Amino acid sequence: MKKVEKIYEGKAKLLYSTENPQQLIQYFKDDATAFNAQKKAVIEGKGVLNNLISEHIMLSLAKAKIPTHFIKRIDEREQLVKKVKIIPLEVIIRNVAAGSMAKRLGISEGLELNAPVFEICFKDDALGDPLINDDHAIYVLKVVTKNQLSEIKNLALNNNKILCEMFENISIRLVDFKIEFGFDVDGKIILADEISPDSCRLWDKKTSEKMDKDRFRRDLGGLVEAYQEVAKRLTKN
Ligand code: C5P
Repeated sequence: MKKVEKIYEGKAKLLYSTENPQQLIQYFKDDATAFNAQKKAVIEGKGVLNNLISEHIMLSLAKAKIPTHFIKRIDEREQLVKKVKIIPLEVIIRNVAAGSMAKRLGISEGLELNAPVFEICFKDDALGDPLINDDHAIYVLKVVTKNQLSEIKNLALNNNKILCEMFENISIRLVDFKIEFGFDVDGKIILADEISPDSCRLWDKKTSEKMDKDRFRRDLGGLVEAYQEVAKRLTKN
């Protein structure tokens, strides 16, 4: 499958049209950004690792009957995906308190939550992706209906169960993650974008070492080594 035209450039990925109007090529860059792109760097090899890790995760989700946009990995940097109309919501599931929720609510990072916590943010860079509630999404922004949001929540929680088990098996704690959904050509809601250490918090179960993008956000160094370790453990299983 050949790239025809660049149709979108995001912070860490590019999207190209192909000869098939229903399929796109998703290209993983080495760019890293944080805090709404106020912090930027190029981390050599990150894109290759995210492509590999996201492929592995998307294939496991498909096996568990979670519909995703992933078709196949083409090479080191590219994967073929189904074209979707992205729903402008960042869907977050948290198993352990960390990041923005810990800060906002004044609780310590690392607190195990009694049940997975579902959050949605409005995907809008100019507004800094603000946290919103269900009514904002349904009645104010009108980006989903009530039924669609409930379907998204179910899919996200099911996804969490599968991912928690997958990471538990490789001795990694899935602290939280962000996913995005889109409507496919038939109007069905499917998982899009990527699932990688750029979009998840992953802590080593034994050492509590961070194995995700917080290594970049918090200037901890060793990001590529951490992503390599995630890829190694995932692909060994
Ligand atoms: O920063 P915060 O604690 O809200 O992030 C929750 C989860 O969502 C983290 O795993 C983070 O990596 C992910 N996230 C993301 N893209 C964003 C915001 C958060 O992948 N724009």
